[in-house]
Amino acid sequence: MDTVTYKEPAPIVDRENPFESMMERFDVAAELLELERGVYEYLKTPVKQVVVSIPIQMDNGEIEVFEGYRVIHNDALGPSKGGIRYAPDITIDEIKALAAWMTWKCSIANIPFGGAKGGVKCDPTKLTQVELEKITRRFTANMLDVFGPDKDIPAPDMNTNEQVMAWIMDTYSMHTRRTENAVVTGKPLIIGGSLGRREATGRGVMVSTFAAMAKKGLNPKQSTCAVQGFGNVGSVSAKLLSEQGLKVVAVSDVSGGYFNKKGINVNAAIEWIQKHRTLEGSGIGDPISNEDLLELEVDVLVPAAKEDQITGKNAGKIKAKIIVEGANGPTTAKADPILDKNGILVVPDILANSGGVTVSYFEWVQDRQGFFWTLDRVNRRLERMMTDAFNNVFQTAERYKVSMRLGAYILAIDKVAKTLKVRGIYA
Ligand code: NAD
Repeated sequence: MDTVTYKEPAPIVDRENPFESMMERFDVAAELLELERGVYEYLKTPVKQVVVSIPIQMDNGEIEVFEGYRVIHNDALGPSKGGIRYAPDITIDEIKALAAWMTWKCSIANIPFGGAKGGVKCDPTKLTQVELEKITRRFTANMLDVFGPDKDIPAPDMNTNEQVMAWIMDTYSMHTRRTENAVVTGKPLIIGGSLGRREATGRGVMVSTFAAMAKKGLNPKQSTCAVQGFGNVGSVSAKLLSEQGLKVVAVSDVSGGYFNKKGINVNAAIEWIQKHRTLEGSGIGDPISNEDLLELEVDVLVPAAKEDQITGKNAGKIKAKIIVEGANGPTTAKADPILDKNGILVVPDILANSGGVTVSYFEWVQDRQGFFWTLDRVNRRLERMMTDAFNNVFQTAERYKVSMRLGAYILAIDKVAKTLKVRGIYA
């Protein structure tokens, strides 16, 4: 078989770029799988890249032209799925990498979706609500041939929210002359959103944490945890973990970290943040730095803030037995071997935070059924799928004698590659 011949792997450098870290891990997994060269090339290349111009009449009467992107990395497993972000500095390369990330995440979560990502280059802080709506509607109209409930299904991402999804759904529906709520997920409940979606990523983190603790023989009722980041993912993870008996001794946000040996009152922290935006002044614990939080003597560490937090510099100082990556890309490729060597079990982002996309899939299923599930049903199905995904990744890692991160990539790539082979190449 004509397999890829790889050069001696170059020493991994801390490039502070989560996408490059992802591609490095992809290459290692591809090598372990002995992927054929053609399949390797196919999986590295997006199947579609669309760039559109978005001319808008601004509130002051002037015309401005924005640029919008949608990249479908792969659609072998089904319609592509991925968020839309609005940011002034996005590039097509970043969107391409994020789209690939979605392909692997959907594959691991075992949902019948491929991966995509999109965005508009704009600064939402400088736009009025009317301008934001115009940009969203024109972007959607220009993407009419790309989006579709059977083709490509957007979702919220950085600087986009339920309202933006509602505009996308409405614009698409106006053009197709029927209400088509399955064209986007992350919608408001009233137009076909799903119960449980807001908490889904944190709930998935909670399920992954307990599955990892069981593998390490740790009793949650006698264990401690620190959570970095107290936004959607961090606060819900902290809440659910503490409800299940784990003692959350530290949390943090942009204002810094807070440590309390007796356990943080997570509900009080959530109430505080709803009124004050950050944890500063909440009195929930003694102040510590975000860096110190990562190095605390705890059983479980949940980085749930941003990328590049655990690097070659601090990985050796981490004392947690388990790291559950709520954020995307919190650990650099250079930190991986250090954590491995120290016997730390890392539940990788593409598995640990896949609860969000799993409930997005549930939203799409419910929209297409026209039948909406109870919160209890959503949560039970999410917990079952997350547990299955965790076990599949764990077993793959054991079979190949690699970390869970590499196990996750191997599982994801293998499934897409096998699907491609059985479908064959149309020509
Ligand atoms: P968010 O904006 O709701 O919260 C981010 C939190 O991180 C805030 O509490 C913020 O104060 C804190 N923060 C920012 N910079 C920090 C720093 N330097 N140190 C410590 N804390 C800092 O975002 P979110 O939706 O919770 O997403 C967090 C991470 O999880 C991101 O990497 C995101 O890509 C990833 N993620 C989110 C979802 C989801 O469903 N929301 C799904 C998958 C992955």
